[in-house]
Amino acid sequence: ERRELNRLRREPSRTLDGVDIKLWANAESRDDVTEAHALGAAGVGLYRTEFLFMGSSELPDEDTQFRAYRDAVIGMTGRTVTIRTLDLGADKADKTGLALRDEPNPALGLRGVRLSLAREGLLHTQLRAMARASGYGPLRALVPMVSGFEEMRTVRSALDAVLFELRSEGFEVADHVPLGAMIEVPSAAIALPDFIGLCDFLSIGTNDLVQYLLAADRTNEALGELYSPLHPAVLRVLRDVVRVANRRGKPVAVCGEIAGDPMFTPLLLALGIGELSLHPATMLEVRRAVRACDLSALRAAAPALFRARERAGIEAWLKAHSAH
Ligand code: PEP
Ligand code: MG
Repeated sequence: ERRELNRLRREPSRTLDGVDIKLWANAESRDDVTEAHALGAAGVGLYRTEFLFMGSSELPDEDTQFRAYRDAVIGMTGRTVTIRTLDLGADKADKTGLALRDEPNPALGLRGVRLSLAREGLLHTQLRAMARASGYGPLRALVPMVSGFEEMRTVRSALDAVLFELRSEGFEVADHVPLGAMIEVPSAAIALPDFIGLCDFLSIGTNDLVQYLLAADRTNEALGELYSPLHPAVLRVLRDVVRVANRRGKPVAVCGEIAGDPMFTPLLLALGIGELSLHPATMLEVRRAVRACDLSALRAAAPALFRARERAGIEAWLKAHSAH
């Protein structure tokens, strides 16, 4: 089975009916980038920058960040690297002192873009490092925990300013650094039509989106199946986000854990999702699942998904359309 999977390193992520599904890699370290490249990932769809900040009490300066981002871009040899701005908060082990301590509700607190905007210089330095790395190959910037229009407008103007600044300092930067929003806060999913014009692409963070839609802590095991993407409300929100994105011609990926679980592949394809970003560890299994999917049949079966009122109905759909 390992041999069979390994053969898929060089095969396209193409459905039975000939549609290419973009499989991006999630990366949290330099090794993940190397692995992503070897697995034939379309690019890095989510480069989590937290690891640069969580190792020590010292903040990584612009050059340190630049070198990490540049190395990822060079490592992917022309395939796009999507770098997410810092998603730190009291929910992560933070030695930098950037995050607040002892927030009563860390998941609802000062994390992600909120923290980046609250700490002087943090976003500016990180965007400069990214923009400088964009001179070495295709790079996109992704913003976590966006709740709506204002944050996206603020980050977009910060990025424009940084590009202007770097050019006037004589740095070679890309003509265009695409900017995207993570869709993981329910308000962002609902208000998406208001600010999608500010986005070049979207990435749906189902780990947090499920947590916030269902008011179910993603780390609390006592909640059991209450924390589940197979809730009718979650599926409807995913469907609606994909519709808005498709109508506006903006690429949209799913980058939460479900993207890396082959059990969910037929479901995500049925919803109209054409891009997944997942940890390299399960890339080949998901590619195999994609190659076993008949996209037009799944799309035709999608309405039945939305008639289910309980998880059992959605699980039955999954079972009926599973690739195995
Ligand atoms: C998510 O929320 O789905 C996501 C990909 O981001 P993280 O897991 O880093 O919060
Ligand atoms: Mg998240």
